[in-house]
Parts: sequence; C-alpha cells; structure tokens
Amino acid sequence: MPVCEVCGNDYDKAFEVRAEEAAHVFTSFECAIQALAPICAHCGCRIIGHGVEADGRIFCCAHCAEQEGVPALRDRV
Ligand SMILES: [Zn+2]
Ligand SMILES: [Zn+2]
Repeated sequence: MPVCEVCGNDYDKAFEVRAEEAAHVFTSFECAIQALAPICAHCGCRIIGHGVEADGRIFCCAHCAEQEGVPALRDRV
C-alpha cells in the first residue's frame, strides 16, 4: 500500500504526482499542495493556480508581483 509522503497515511486511493523527474505519492490533493505548490513571494499563500513568474520569483497573482516591484505583469490564464 503506498504511503502519503506528507501525512504518512496509507489510504488505498493514493495517487502519484510527477514533478521535476521525481515521483511523489499522496493521499489527498491537500497533501500534494502542501508538498509541491510554490509559495507566493509576496503574500505567502500557496499557489495552486497558474501563478506568475518574474525575476526567478513566483507570485500568486499580478497584484502581488506589483507589490514586490515587478512592473505590470499580466495574469496568465
Ligand atoms: Zn497525506
Ligand atoms: Zn500573493
């Protein structure tokens, strides 16, 4: 039985996520988000949408990027 690498749960509906060549096993999307979702460089929230990238940093939205001095980004949708 696969075991969730975040919470250690061995729920039988575990699933695998591949991220940058590594395979991760989770039992819920919540755990997957916890382990894999990037964090907004401005507000610190988990980015589970597309997010925006600038200067090697990642933000949850164009507004946050602007607050960190990144000029006029557009949300990628
Ligand atoms: Zn879990
Ligand atoms: Zn943000």
